[in-house]
Amino acid sequence: MQIHRYLELDAAAEAISCTECGTTICNAEENYRKHSAMRTGPITEAGVPFVPPEDKIGRKTDLEFREFFCPECAVLLQTEFAKEDDPIIHDIEIDLDSLSE
Ligand SMILES: [Zn+2]
Repeated sequence: MQIHRYLELDAAAEAISCTECGTTICNAEENYRKHSAMRTGPITEAGVPFVPPEDKIGRKTDLEFREFFCPECAVLLQTEFAKEDDPIIHDIEIDLDSLSE
């Protein structure tokens, strides 16, 4: 079952894998982002519309832009904005019990 553009849930194996290369990324109940290859940088790396915070609000921030890639084929799985010391967002939480009902 496809759960995101490049993520697939194998309910029988209870695993999340990459739809591009088939690599198993993690167990279904884990946060795939924590098992991805992560790159961080300034928010300006998100694209032209994202101006440096110091230009917008007059001071530096501790915001960063995070990119998460498949650890095998490096397809871009997801991105997020966060403060540097914020935990990684767990955006897809699988309830395996409800799948087996
Ligand atoms: Zn992959």
